[in-house]
Amino acid sequence: MKKVTIIIPTYNEEEALPFLYERVEKVINSIENYEFEILFVNDGSKDKTIKLIKEYREKDKRINYVDFARNFGKETAMIAGVDYATGDCAIFMDADLQDPPELIPEMIKYWEEGYDDVYAQRRSRKGETWLKKLTSKMYYRVLQALTRVEIQKDTGDYRLLDRRCVNALKKMREISRNSKSMFSWIGYKKKAIMYDRDPRIAGQTKWNYAKLINLAIDGITSFTTSPLRISTFLAIPTFLALFIYFIYVIIKCIRFNVAIEAFQAIILLVLFFSGVQILLFGIVGEYLGRIFNESKNRPLYLVNEYNGRRETND
Ligand code: UDP
Ligand code: MG
Repeated sequence: MKKVTIIIPTYNEEEALPFLYERVEKVINSIENYEFEILFVNDGSKDKTIKLIKEYREKDKRINYVDFARNFGKETAMIAGVDYATGDCAIFMDADLQDPPELIPEMIKYWEEGYDDVYAQRRSRKGETWLKKLTSKMYYRVLQALTRVEIQKDTGDYRLLDRRCVNALKKMREISRNSKSMFSWIGYKKKAIMYDRDPRIAGQTKWNYAKLINLAIDGITSFTTSPLRISTFLAIPTFLALFIYFIYVIIKCIRFNVAIEAFQAIILLVLFFSGVQILLFGIVGEYLGRIFNESKNRPLYLVNEYNGRRETND
C-alpha cells in the first residue's frame, strides 16, 4: 500500500488544530487503499499546540511529529517535514485550513496519473485585502521577468510532491529558504488544480508585511543574481553620457578655439569617476553572484529518466 505523508507546519495553532484534525481525519478516512501519515512540525509554539498534537497521537498512530527547539520559521519547518516524511509522496498543508483537505483525493488522483507536483492554485482569496492581492500579483510578475525558471502564479505551498521531488528538496540545504522558488526550480511534471482559498479558520495570521517583504526579497535573491547586474547595466549609460559629452566639449573647444571651462571639466570628471565606480561595483557583483551560486551547493541538475528508468534522487 502506498503511503501519503501530510506535512503540517504549526506555530501557535491551538485554536485551529481541533478543526484541522477533524477535517483532515474525515478526508483521509474516506480514502481507501492508501496509508496516511500526518506529520506535524511544531515550530516552537508558545501555546498548547504540542500538547494537543501529543494527545492526538495517543489516539491516532498515523500522527507523527517533529518538535523544534524554537521557532525557526515556516520554511525551515517545511524542510524538517521533508526530512522526516516516510511516505511515497508528501503534501504540504497549512494548519489553519486555508488549504482545504478535501483536495487531497484529487491530488492523489493526478499523482497516480504520473504527475510529480500537483499544486493547488487559488481561484480566489477570501478574507485578504486588495493590497495583499495586488502586491502578490506584482511580485509574481517581477519574479518571472527576472528568471527563466517557470513560476507558478497564485500558488502557495499547498501541493502534493512525489518522493523524487521530496528527495530533491532534501538536497537543497541552503539556509535562506524560499520553498515556492524551490518547487519551481525542481521542475518535473506539474499539474495545477484550482480552488477557492478560505479565510483562516481560527487564531491569528503569523504574517505581517515585514515578513512578507523578507520572503519576497529571499524569493528573488534565491532565484537569480540579476539584481547584482543592475550595477553593470548602469555603467553603460554613464560611460555613454561621458563619451557623448566629451566629444561635444572637444568639438566646441576646437570649433570656437576656446579653452575647456571649469564646469565642463567637472562634469567630465564626475561622469568618468562615477562610471568607473559603478563598473567596479558591477564586477564585484558578478563575482559575488558566482560565489553565491556555488555556496548553495545544490545538485547541478536533476534527471527525470535514465534509459527509461525513473530517477528518484536517492
Ligand atoms: N507557521 C510556522 N512557523 C512560523 C509561522 C507560521 O510553522 O513561524 C505555520 C502556521 O502555523 C501555518 C502556516 O505556517 O500552518 C501558515 O501561516 P499563516 O496562516 O499564519 O500564514 P498566512 O496564511 O497568513 O500567509
Ligand atoms: Mg494562513
